[in-house]
Amino acid sequence: MSISNLAAIDAAHHIHPFSDMKALNAKGTRIITRGEGSHIFDSTGKKYLDGFAGLWCVNIGYGRPEIADAVQRQMNELAYYNAFFGTSTPSATLLAEKIASHTEGHLNHVFFTNSGSEATDTWFRMARVYWQAKGQPEKKIVIARRNGYHGSTVAGASLGGMKHMHQQAGSEITGIAHIGQPYWYAEGGELTPHEFGLKAAKELEDKIAELGADKIAAFVAEPIQGAGGVIVPPDSYWPEIQRICTENDILLVADEVICGFGRLGQWFGHQHFKVKPDLAPVAKGLSSGYLPIGAVLISDRVADVMINEVGDFFHGFTYSGHPVSAAAALENLRIIEDEKLVERVRDDIGPYFTKAWKSLEDHDLVGTAENVGLMGALQMAAEKKTRQRFTKADDFGSYVRNVCLENGLVLRATGDRMLASPPLVITEEEVDFMVKVTRLGLDAAWKVRGDYV
Ligand SMILES: *Cc1c(COP(=O)(O)O)cnc(C)c1O
Repeated sequence: MSISNLAAIDAAHHIHPFSDMKALNAKGTRIITRGEGSHIFDSTGKKYLDGFAGLWCVNIGYGRPEIADAVQRQMNELAYYNAFFGTSTPSATLLAEKIASHTEGHLNHVFFTNSGSEATDTWFRMARVYWQAKGQPEKKIVIARRNGYHGSTVAGASLGGMKHMHQQAGSEITGIAHIGQPYWYAEGGELTPHEFGLKAAKELEDKIAELGADKIAAFVAEPIQGAGGVIVPPDSYWPEIQRICTENDILLVADEVICGFGRLGQWFGHQHFKVKPDLAPVAKGLSSGYLPIGAVLISDRVADVMINEVGDFFHGFTYSGHPVSAAAALENLRIIEDEKLVERVRDDIGPYFTKAWKSLEDHDLVGTAENVGLMGALQMAAEKKTRQRFTKADDFGSYVRNVCLENGLVLRATGDRMLASPPLVITEEEVDFMVKVTRLGLDAAWKVRGDYV
């Protein structure tokens, strides 16, 4: 099968997620055929360092035979059984235990889904059911953040704070309110990051006062906003959020779909920020993307009500706890444990990446380079001194990304922020390559910057 053939077939039949199909078909789809470690290869044989771990998910890198073997074993033994009718499978049960073992004690219960979006729908319904069972059915509203991302189902798109998603098919779910994000560089004005973190958290307090704590079920946020542009909150932000949720008796939901499973140098992102969520959706790194699986981690506080008060929770998916996906996830977590990948990100490759990534701040285009562990962003600036942004930010970011791609590095652009989220197994040499090629992209963009201001 020739490459041009595959691209033509793709254009004729395949509608891609989050893609302008007319533009994509004109350009031609890039067909990825192979992966190994931190690299992917396309159908022309071109090799790329995957600085984005697929879509924030391939934490253990590509091509691990142990996972393929675990999947094959499980498929041969039992390809499918469900968890609906008083049954489970060894891999689903052991995976629930394994996940809980990494949560420092209070998130002891796991509800399985097939994706992060389904995990969002699951905790959203669960939070409301929890308050119903507690005799406070009017506590229904969920507060989320502008520029947050929680998936593409109707609840996910409504909870997310992406304006373009709301505009396309509405934001139909009622009882959702949005507050601002802790994005100091763009919105902090004259405040210090510390002051701005407190101000952004205060928006939650103000919104609760406006709507009434007795009407609010939960607040949801990503520990670090991913799709929104790897927005690292100021240190003052999360402790305030925790305090406000506790004082107002509102469930705190940490969307761990990206931050979970080692990316920030802890098993979960909320551990890095030292907060205690009541619910935490996960997906992506749970199986390193080898098979689809997601879950909601449930605190003892919520589980106690779900188990002892609710009775039947009328919710679930045919493939909740799919034994083959669970087998892949179990093996993935075994690899993360045995190879000490979380510790590696915290103590070794993470600090190395921080230093290398920060070195880009000397570039005239880079306003700030931020990261926690192996999740980073470069904020580009039209003028560094005034933190002035590019007007045609999306096109400018795409320009840099395309130069990097030509030079063998996959990064993602969100507006005028370049995002990095490499596999947790990335080597120092590969980090050096990332930074070298990113600098090439910035140099090329510097020459054409006038077209984008
Ligand atoms: C990717 C993502 C989701 C949605 O997960 P899917 O598996 O794509 O449905 C939800 N929340 C966050 C923070 C994500 O990054």
